[in-house]
Amino acid sequence: MRPDPLPTSVSHPVVTPLSPSVVYASETPDELDAQYEGRVQGYTYSREGHPNADVVAKRLDAMEGISGGIVTSSGMAAVSAVVLGLLKAGDHVIGANQLYGRSLRLMKEDLPRLGMSTSLVDPGDVQAVKAEINPETKMILVEVVSNPTLSVADIKGLAKLCEQEGILFVVDNTFTTPRGFRPFDHGADIVIHSITKLLAGHSDVMLGYAVARDQAINDQMRVFAITTGMTPSPFDCWLAERGMLSFELRFDRTQETAALLADHLAGLPGVKRVLYPTRHDHPDNGLATELLGVSGCNMVSFELTGGRTAANIFTREADGLNFAPTLGDVGTTLSHPASSSHRGLTEVERMKLGLSEGFFRVSVGLEDPEPLLAVFTHAVNTATC
Ligand SMILES: *Cc1c(COP(=O)(O)O)cnc(C)c1O
Repeated sequence: MRPDPLPTSVSHPVVTPLSPSVVYASETPDELDAQYEGRVQGYTYSREGHPNADVVAKRLDAMEGISGGIVTSSGMAAVSAVVLGLLKAGDHVIGANQLYGRSLRLMKEDLPRLGMSTSLVDPGDVQAVKAEINPETKMILVEVVSNPTLSVADIKGLAKLCEQEGILFVVDNTFTTPRGFRPFDHGADIVIHSITKLLAGHSDVMLGYAVARDQAINDQMRVFAITTGMTPSPFDCWLAERGMLSFELRFDRTQETAALLADHLAGLPGVKRVLYPTRHDHPDNGLATELLGVSGCNMVSFELTGGRTAANIFTREADGLNFAPTLGDVGTTLSHPASSSHRGLTEVERMKLGLSEGFFRVSVGLEDPEPLLAVFTHAVNTATC
């Protein structure tokens, strides 16, 4: 059965049509051959690709200054497409020691189970990374700015090391986004995004993206993503495209407010320390300035005086702010690593990272800065008085 053709119109829609069709019908076997052989462009089965995914991929390709990227059903699917789609048993991978929680789990649990070995190292210390390299090392995976201490990777040093050693240099650019940082301009081989976060930006869609400089690698990742069913839903892609239309505005606004919030928090007596990469008191300020310029990120971390009791009062008093483990939403969200992302660590391990019970990470949203700062003043003062 064929659907009725759409009514004809000499005008065209100004919004990308949503194409939920799972299958695409071809006229003849000859035409299908031509499609599979790439002589004509045509979709076949949506796990293999569909227009809405391609629209998002092209948009991100343009932002990263590259071509051939793939969109996946989540950021973790993109990480998996890169790591599992390109490596094999016997290979060794070096990861940053503060990777996103699930990426860390992949490194610690799943890769060893599949016969790969892994090392986790401080990505700000190129010598330490170099010391871990062995003849089987095939890939180094880092994030530019890490969660939740917002420490900065030595991207240039690592890129140089990877080039010398013939190792794939993979950068998860989720926190920094292509507006803050373009990894390919600094020697990355592969870039990953969780579109779920700032790019889509409204906490209503989960998607990822991966792209390599080398098109043969893109093909390999694409085939693996199709085989393992990492395909995104057309509706999610449609929503992401819609969100991305305002991404630049949202990024600029949230990053400006984040810088204001960082300075504001530093002036409150109940705040022990503030972490924001472009503040002079951040341990990695030099690297941050070199890589990000004046552009920071929309994340601010800080430590309250007082333990869990103060933390409980703080989230309760932070009126209108969601205490929720995500980032990049239109609204400001609060995350408490000790009870969420880092709850799996022992107290000693957490303290080594400086993640006390008073430690919070803020993902700054689009609220008016002044009332937002007032909410923080009230919540911090009430929690620590
Ligand atoms: C959220 C996140 C991911 C995973 O993305 P999902 O879309 O949640 O699967 C990967 N890396 C970083 C840095 C993230 O923040």
